[in-house]
Amino acid sequence: MITLQSYLSGSWQTGTGTPAQLFNPTTEEAIAECSSEGLDMAAAVTYGREVGGAALRAMTFSERGQLLKALAAAIHEYREELIALAIQNGGNTRGDAKFDIDGATGTLAAYAHFSKELPDAKFLTDGDSIQLGRTKRWLGQHILVPREGVAVHINAFNFPGWGMFEKVACAILAGVPVIEKPGTPTALVAYRMAQIAVESGILPEGSFQFIAGSAGDLLDHLGPQDQLAFTGSAWTGAKLKGHPNLVKNNTHVNIEADSLNAVVFAPSLETSSDTFGEFVANTVREMTQKTGQKCTAARRVFVPKDRVDEVAEEFKAALGRITIGDPADKGTGMGPVTSQSQFNELREGIDAFSAAGTIICGGSEPAMEKGWFLAPTVVVAKDADEAVFHERELFGPITTILPYDGEREDSALEAARLANKGGGSLLGAVYCDDPEWARDCILAMAPWHGRIWTVSERVAGQATFPGMVLPSMIHGGPGRAGGGEELGGLRGLSEYLQRVGIQAFGGLIKAEFGG
Ligand code: NAP
Repeated sequence: MITLQSYLSGSWQTGTGTPAQLFNPTTEEAIAECSSEGLDMAAAVTYGREVGGAALRAMTFSERGQLLKALAAAIHEYREELIALAIQNGGNTRGDAKFDIDGATGTLAAYAHFSKELPDAKFLTDGDSIQLGRTKRWLGQHILVPREGVAVHINAFNFPGWGMFEKVACAILAGVPVIEKPGTPTALVAYRMAQIAVESGILPEGSFQFIAGSAGDLLDHLGPQDQLAFTGSAWTGAKLKGHPNLVKNNTHVNIEADSLNAVVFAPSLETSSDTFGEFVANTVREMTQKTGQKCTAARRVFVPKDRVDEVAEEFKAALGRITIGDPADKGTGMGPVTSQSQFNELREGIDAFSAAGTIICGGSEPAMEKGWFLAPTVVVAKDADEAVFHERELFGPITTILPYDGEREDSALEAARLANKGGGSLLGAVYCDDPEWARDCILAMAPWHGRIWTVSERVAGQATFPGMVLPSMIHGGPGRAGGGEELGGLRGLSEYLQRVGIQAFGGLIKAEFGG
C-alpha cells in the first residue's frame, strides 16, 4: 500500500487521521491511501506567497517560459511509469493514459513556446498608450502584473496529469506560485508527477506545492491577491464559489464545471459523405475514450427524426467493435469507470434515462468477475425536450440520441434551441456540409457554448477531434459549465495577472512602461 504525501512549506508531509483509499478499478483492490488531516494549510499559503511568489516575480516572462520547457522534458522522461500508474489507478487504457500524460507535457511545452512572444520583462503592456490630455505629455497605459498571491488549483479525478499541468503552465508563466490538489480517487498519477516536479528542482522553491487528500481549511486562508481555479462537478463548483471567505475577499475564482455537450447532425448530411463517417467515429470515440469520463464527451446527439434509426444502427455497430476489459491488455478499447460511487451513480442514471427513452445498446454490465465495468450505452429519447437529458450529467460511456424536426425551414435554429437547453456547455460539435446551415446553427449556439467545433467534407480527415482541448484554444463555458475560461494561448495568463491603468507624464510612460 502506497501512502501519498503532500508537499507543503518545503517538505513532504503525511496527514493524520483515517486516510482515504485509492483503488484499482479493474480489480477493486485498494492500492494507495492519503490524508491531509492536520497539515498546516495557512503556513503553506504564506510560504507560497512569500517564498515562491517572490522568486517567480524576480524572473521575467521569458525566463519562466524556460522553466516550463524544462519541466515538460523532466516529466516526459517518466512517461512509461506514469502510463502504468494511470492504467492501475485510473482504469485507463494505454491510449487514455497517453492522452492525459502527453496532454500535461504537451501543454507545458506549448506554453514554453507561447512565451517566446512575450518580452524579457516583469510586466506586460496591454495595448498602446492613450492620449488623455491636450498634448502627449499626459498619457494613459494599461499594464499587466502578476498578482502577489497563490493560485490554488482543485482538480477533477478524470485528468490527474493534464488537469494539473494545464493550470500550472499558465500560473507559473504569469509569475504566480501554485498549490495543486488533485481529485483523490486517481491521485496516484498526480502524486508521482508532483514528486518528479519537486525532485527535478526546476521550479523555484515555494512555487509548487501539492496536497494529497482533502483541501481541509485551505480556502479559509485565501485573500484578495490569491485565486482559486476549480475543475469538477457543478455542485462542488457552486459550493466553492459561495465560500464565505472567498466572497468576503473577492478572491478571484474560476470554475470549470460539468457540461452536457451537444453534437448536431445536419439534415442534409449524406450517409456516403466523409462528414458522416467522422460523425460516427468521433461520437463513438468521445463516448468511450477514458470510459466517457471526459468533460468534453458527447452527451446529447441531435439527429433529424427521419435519420435516427440509421444513426442508432451505426453507433450500435461501431460500439460493438470495442473490446471492454482489463485496460492493461493491448486489445482493450475501453476500461472500467474509476470508482464504485461513479459506477453506482451511472447505473442509477441509466435507469432514469431509460424511463424517458429506449436503450438501443448497452444499459448493463458486461460479464466480468471484478471491476467497475459498464457497457457503452445509447439511449434514444422519446421527446427531445424531456428535461432529464438536459439536466443530468452521466459521467461515463453513455450518450443520448435526441430527435429534432429536420424538415422545418429553420431546422438549424431548432437544433440550436435544443442544444442550448444544456444550460451552458463547454463544447458543441456540428457536422454539416451546408455552410449557411452551419453558420445559422453556430451563431444560435454561440452564446451558450465555450467552443464550437464544426466539420464538413472540406476538412474531414484533417480536423482534430472535438473533445480534444488544445492549449491554443479557450476551454470553459457559460452557465452550467461554470462560467470560467482557461487556456486560449496567452489569454490563459490573464487569470493570474492584475490589469492596471497607469496615468502619467508621457515621458515616464514611454521610457518605463513601453507605451
Ligand atoms: P467533484 O466531486 O466536484 O470534485 C472535484 C474536486 O473538488 C476534487 O479534487 C475534490 O476533492 C474537490 N472537492 C470536493 N469538495 C470540496 C470542498 N468542499 N472543498 C474543496 N474541494 C472539494 O468532481 P469529480 O468527481 O472529481 O469530477 C467529475 C466532474 O468534473 C464531472 O462533473 C465533470 O464534468 C467535471 N469536469 C469538468 C471539467 C472542465 O474542464 N469543465 C474537466 C474535468 C471534469 P476530493 O476528490 O478529495 O473529494
